Amino acid sequence: MFQAIRDALLSVVFPHPCSVCGRGVEKYADGPACSKCWDETTIFTGDETLCAKCSQLLLLKPPLGEAFCHRCDGHFYDQAISVGLYERALAACVVALKSEPHIPARLRRLLAELFVRAPFYGADLIIPVPLSKARWIERGFNQAEVVAGVIADAAGIPIQTRVLVRRSHTPMHRAAMDRRARELTVENAFGVELPEMVAGRSIILIDDVFTTGATVSGCAKVLKKTGADKVGVLTIARAR
Ligand SMILES: [Zn+2]
Ligand SMILES: [Zn+2]
Repeated sequence: MFQAIRDALLSVVFPHPCSVCGRGVEKYADGPACSKCWDETTIFTGDETLCAKCSQLLLLKPPLGEAFCHRCDGHFYDQAISVGLYERALAACVVALKSEPHIPARLRRLLAELFVRAPFYGADLIIPVPLSKARWIERGFNQAEVVAGVIADAAGIPIQTRVLVRRSHTPMHRAAMDRRARELTVENAFGVELPEMVAGRSIILIDDVFTTGATVSGCAKVLKKTGADKVGVLTIARAR
């Protein structure tokens, strides 16, 4: 009842346009995108054929057992899962989260549902991918920490934000570097501060978006080197 009244009032007083298509957003719970754009967003249900390690959408269904894309063979995490593809409503949520530390109710529900389906039962610890100090100062918050808060609430697992640190500020695009050089810079940017929190633990690593997987693989690499037993990755959206 309260929600219906709030949504009606909001649509009169504050009809904010959908960041994807520009139509009015009908429900506050839908965040930056309208319900039509949400409907047109690929949300994984568990019925898709995805790489069993990195969740890349695969075109061919394997005749038996699990399928792998093999592009993620060198990655250090055990399994990476996402709510859906980085497109339309999910992309809008990821972009909005960079300027405001808020996750709309619809996405909170999807994150909680994803966690329930995830093979991360028995995980001991949630660790958000850290920002560099420079970017943290610029933004004022870490968007991965906001996502981690939602998963921690749903899972009842503690968050640790001081275990993993980002040692250097890596510019997003360095034109002179080839892809592998950029990946190596990202891979080596992380360190573990409290090794006793990591050794023998099963960890869920959280980030907002999974693009090439280099960032989360870099985090998983140092966590595993410090003795982490398992590292699962959970993100809002993954690149196609
Ligand atoms: Zn829309
Ligand atoms: Zn893969």
